[in-house]
Amino acid sequence: MTFHARLAAAGLMLAALGAGACSPEGGRTAEGEAAGAEPIAASADVHAFRIGALQAAALRDGALALPANDPEMSPWPPAQTAVLLTTAGVQDGTIHLSIQPLLVRDGERTVLIDAGAGGQMGTENRLPASLRAAGVEPGQVTDVLISHAHGDHIGGLTAGGALAFPNATIRMDAATWEEIRVEPRLAELTRLITPKVQTFAAGAAITPAITVVALPGHTAGHSGFEIASGEERLLYIGDALHSSIVSVRAPELRNAWDADSAMAIRTRAGLLDRGVRDGLRIYGVHFPFPGVGRFKRGPDGFSWVPEGGEVAPAGPVAAAAE
Ligand SMILES: [Zn+2]
Repeated sequence: MTFHARLAAAGLMLAALGAGACSPEGGRTAEGEAAGAEPIAASADVHAFRIGALQAAALRDGALALPANDPEMSPWPPAQTAVLLTTAGVQDGTIHLSIQPLLVRDGERTVLIDAGAGGQMGTENRLPASLRAAGVEPGQVTDVLISHAHGDHIGGLTAGGALAFPNATIRMDAATWEEIRVEPRLAELTRLITPKVQTFAAGAAITPAITVVALPGHTAGHSGFEIASGEERLLYIGDALHSSIVSVRAPELRNAWDADSAMAIRTRAGLLDRGVRDGLRIYGVHFPFPGVGRFKRGPDGFSWVPEGGEVAPAGPVAAAAE
């Protein structure tokens, strides 16, 4: 089985164990009220930060290490990937992808963006512990937003044959929900989450601060999320770009994991252009932990500048983005 097939299959399997306390469904409040909430505790697996007045946290779930020269593991052409890695200073010939769902508090809503792999694909299933380390019980999550239906994003929706976030509404694009419902290997997942699923369309406001952004190509319903508070905004890019090296430096490179390669390439190029033009703060769910930073354009093309990295962020915070 190729890695791609395994990735797909993993999306399809249901993992194990979970539970949770309870808490009421969250109501809507104006943005900024989270400023009074108890701060999210930072730790090795929790990167707490702010988006304007909102509290947010990158929650480490696990990591994937893909040998660049193994076409069954890497989605990119081996020779070009090797050059890109070496140029970026990566000496082990390995594509390192992190997995870090994003937690956002917006008023009384506690929103988790993507649910991690749930231990599939050999990952560590650290999300439940990371969430608790951030001071959030699974039952306190009011909304889980799903970017797309691959295993490293939906694997953590269930645990032990039960909903991992028992009080959360599970939100996704209608096309993503259809992909899950028609897949026989996801029948048990479908049965468990059906009462909790609500579909959205691009442009929908999930909370006062969080808006759905269509980023098609990786899958048909692949969605990003823009989180805005005051003059600040952050764009969660899902799997529009997987690698902070390969996807950023060579966005035109065909990625075998993309369902519609031409559209995915257009989406990547558009994101990089807009990111630089608007100085957008970006959240890469698979970029090196914690995945917060900005794109930069140089003479040799685009590069990734992690927040707090050695290179100064390019441009002001994106007040001008539409
Ligand atoms: Zn992914």
